Amino acid sequence: MFDTHCHLNFKAFAGKVDEVVDRTRKAGVNYFVVPGADVETSKKAIEIAGKFAGIYAAVGIHPHHIYQYQTSNIKNQKDKSNIKNDLKLIEELLVSPKVVAVGEVGLDRHYYQKTKYSNYQINEEFIELQKEVLLTQLKLAKKYKKSIIIHNREAKEDLLDILTTNYYLLSTISIVFHCCEPDGELLSFARKHKIFIGVDGDICYRKDKQEFVKKIPLELLVLETDSPFLSPFKKFPNEPKNLPLIASFMAAKIGISQNELGRITEANSKKLFKIT
Ligand SMILES: [Zn+2]
Ligand SMILES: [Zn+2]
Repeated sequence: MFDTHCHLNFKAFAGKVDEVVDRTRKAGVNYFVVPGADVETSKKAIEIAGKFAGIYAAVGIHPHHIYQYQTSNIKNQKDKSNIKNDLKLIEELLVSPKVVAVGEVGLDRHYYQKTKYSNYQINEEFIELQKEVLLTQLKLAKKYKKSIIIHNREAKEDLLDILTTNYYLLSTISIVFHCCEPDGELLSFARKHKIFIGVDGDICYRKDKQEFVKKIPLELLVLETDSPFLSPFKKFPNEPKNLPLIASFMAAKIGISQNELGRITEANSKKLFKIT
């Protein structure tokens, strides 16, 4: 089985990666992609991928972390150039041998109550900067022939607008809508452009996702845990060893066996990330 989105690089797993990987392998999950959310976690993802067979990295700047680069938060000229520098660093990391994708990148209009940024707020300046950085990272994926992991939260219209306007990117990059919102418009866009759809453990308690998964074409479905988040038991931290449990729940909803779902989604994930 393949966990296409698992943050072994996050603080929740500091000092525990070996045991978590060991537990996950014993549960029958042999492939992982660890996505970065900023420069630091992208470096960490590469470091982890370098240590284990079957673990791959993605590098990128998550829309939530674009907050720190906003002009209104910037106090001096040095900070202002940070976004350019950081995108340059991401570009340098992209050529590491086990990096398979740019990610996670995207758009996020969700108001986070719990965040490291003080006075967090969603305004148009912030969203515009998110769009700009997303487009730059989409272009990086094209330039380096990498796949792309897209994070979208409550920003469907802006996202589809960027992808439609930059149609030339769509035809060459393998894309996944990670933790896809259960939304008909996203699904038909994904069908039309052969975009993969990631489904997580929250399906175990979200009725809307249980209905949604039945509509996803099997050839576009991939599994993910988004560990340490989105535990099927609403407990922190979630671990990738929970993937088979999520798969078994999902398989019952779809009406196929867990083995078949595991086999199909593993093959889809390898195709998505061009892993042979
Ligand atoms: Zn995400
Ligand atoms: Zn994530």
